[in-house]
Amino acid sequence: MHPIVKKVQDAGVVGAGGAGFPAHLKYNTNAEIVLANGAECEPLLYKDKELMRLFPNEVKKGMELVAKAVSASRSILGVKSKNKDVIGQFRGLFGGTKHEIFEMGDYYPAGDEYVLIYEAVGRLVPYGGYPIHIGCVVSNVETLLNVALADSGVPVTETFLTVNGVIKNPMTIKVPIGTPLNEIIEFAGGLTTSEPVAALAGGAMMGQLQTDFTLPVTKTSAGFIFVPMDHTLVRRRSESLSEMKKIGQSACDQCTYCTEFCPRYLLGYHIEPHKVMRSLGFAGEKDDFWGNYAVNCCECNLCSLYACPEDLDPKQACVRSKKNIKLKGLSYTPPETELAAHPMQEHRKVSIHKLTRKLGLLPYNQKADFHLDRFIPTHVNIPLSQHIGVPATPIVNEGSEVSIGQMIGQIPDGEMGAHVHASINGLVKSVTNDNIMIEAK
Ligand code: SF4
Ligand code: SF4
Repeated sequence: MHPIVKKVQDAGVVGAGGAGFPAHLKYNTNAEIVLANGAECEPLLYKDKELMRLFPNEVKKGMELVAKAVSASRSILGVKSKNKDVIGQFRGLFGGTKHEIFEMGDYYPAGDEYVLIYEAVGRLVPYGGYPIHIGCVVSNVETLLNVALADSGVPVTETFLTVNGVIKNPMTIKVPIGTPLNEIIEFAGGLTTSEPVAALAGGAMMGQLQTDFTLPVTKTSAGFIFVPMDHTLVRRRSESLSEMKKIGQSACDQCTYCTEFCPRYLLGYHIEPHKVMRSLGFAGEKDDFWGNYAVNCCECNLCSLYACPEDLDPKQACVRSKKNIKLKGLSYTPPETELAAHPMQEHRKVSIHKLTRKLGLLPYNQKADFHLDRFIPTHVNIPLSQHIGVPATPIVNEGSEVSIGQMIGQIPDGEMGAHVHASINGLVKSVTNDNIMIEAK
């Protein structure tokens, strides 16, 4: 293992922009190109943009370190053209280096790694493969900042996130991992309504509905959009599976818009959500053949929340089909034709402005600049599983005093996962198999 990769492992770095894949496993390889993903595309979230604006040296250092670890000959930062101040900074920093900037339009889902790789270097991830199969390593800019910190011996103890929506002072902040959401709400001045509110945790498109604000933030938290309980996005996410299926079966008129706008279909992949919906209508969940049209879905939600004129949920139907295929142990055979982007790929990109309007989020779209004040919560509740792999094993006891950066949860040798560290100085109040709670000193 390269010494940099070992430091990344010790620091518990995970992919901050996705499901939390342990970064040391991703970097323990050779690759031709490192792609820094700064193409944030969830409406109303600004944490990557703000992070790049305030910590460009760390992002650049992270790119250098990863390029060195994987012996890459190119490293490219993907960033939206609209972020002119960020681009200006990086142009200055990259002058005379081999780092490149790739400017992207303001569309969704620009940050999907398949899309970013195709746009930046013209390659398509093969069926069932990963970016490394076409010589690429893709990392979110926050992950790269954490790599730079890891190189200096600083583990991951904080996460960047945006709070926006019905909140008094929308902002982007850096908070200790394990901070309960309600303390962040309070720090941001509280909610602007006394009516019931829900949070779209992780974003309006790919995030989850959250109504329990005592839950803690994790290494992969990107932001929270607070909306009234009667907002259409809350209603859409609250529909039961049986409701979704019943409506889908009766109302899908096979207009094919869901497929026409699907970013994976437009990249040339074998995916046609309207056919998945057709199977729902005619064969229920028994038809494995139609289910195959869902296998390449990245769950971006564009079909359900933007394309479908009937407000149906083809994304959920795809998720369901993928699960069924897995449960039944069926194998998927991709078509033998060569992968090639659809001729309309360039022209069917969905602008963030149009998407924000369609989602009913324009009234909540406020600036959320970085808040410089340091935020210290009363306590943190640190999950032992914030990553893909096995949960960390607690290595502290109730009553122990811990300090920031101290390892409190360890991944056993040979297992997949990421170590967990104390995010504040304090006293361990409780230890379970799931969480370690620390009260601030
Ligand atoms: S866009 Fe909606 S109505 Fe049209 S085919 Fe897809 S699911 Fe059916
Ligand atoms: S969620 Fe819909 S639009 Fe997105 S990849 Fe899946 S089928 Fe395509």
